[in-house]
Amino acid sequence: MDKVNILGVNVDMVNISQAVDVIMDFFNEDKLHSVFTPNSEIIMRAYKDEEFCKLLNNASLLTADGIGVVYASKILKKPISERAAGYDIACKVLEKINYTDHKLFLFGGKPGVAEEAKENLLKKYPALNIVGIRNGYFKAEEEEAIVEEINNSGADIVFVCLGAPKQEQWIDRHKDKLKVRVAMGIGGSLDVFAGRAERAPEFFCKTGLEWFYRLCKEPWRIGRMMELPKFGMTVIAKGRKYKQD
Ligand code: UDP
Repeated sequence: MDKVNILGVNVDMVNISQAVDVIMDFFNEDKLHSVFTPNSEIIMRAYKDEEFCKLLNNASLLTADGIGVVYASKILKKPISERAAGYDIACKVLEKINYTDHKLFLFGGKPGVAEEAKENLLKKYPALNIVGIRNGYFKAEEEEAIVEEINNSGADIVFVCLGAPKQEQWIDRHKDKLKVRVAMGIGGSLDVFAGRAERAPEFFCKTGLEWFYRLCKEPWRIGRMMELPKFGMTVIAKGRKYKQD
């Protein structure tokens, strides 16, 4: 897969449908594949933290979540054709695994969220095999038991929804023990499946203004969002120094 190196992070140049095809292929290999969907905030974190950058680059698939990452790829003359957000990829994967033998585990969110997500998902995808759920609030000493719970469920795919960077670090920490074939870090997606959070209307997503919509709805995110202009300026100033394959 072709990649674009954005401030050290090797993002795969795939659109949503290509990402889904790649994930479906992962099921044929007897090993864990991690899928992360970095946005500009996560890439800025990786830019400042070499270890986190390595962790991201060890993933099997890194898709561009957010218009900032898509623009960065254009600035670096290796354009990614569209934003491939975790939620959108997850929805298409669910469509594909409905009416199959694949087994899904939902991990993350506040107590009750995974239950509600499961209920709603089964309304939409009635033959989906959801073999386990677990909320995302736990102590460090509970982590091994969670891994065991996921393994004992027989799941071959797990949605890890702990927010970034927690979910990426959790998957990386347990990658050698987890028996699933696909582990996807997809942030607040369970909240959306549960109906507790809304996605921005399509207009805002399509025009690259989702950040503006979220800012109006959740003004406390302003601190996090200030990373977006910093990211743009850093890509313009430093982005070309990173070697592209
Ligand atoms: N979360 C969790 N455990 C934690 C912290 C967060 O399960 O210790 C969940 C939180 O309930 C929410 C999601 O992780 O469902 C993070 O959502 P957010 O939209 O903030 O993440 P993003 O998609 O922006 O990374």
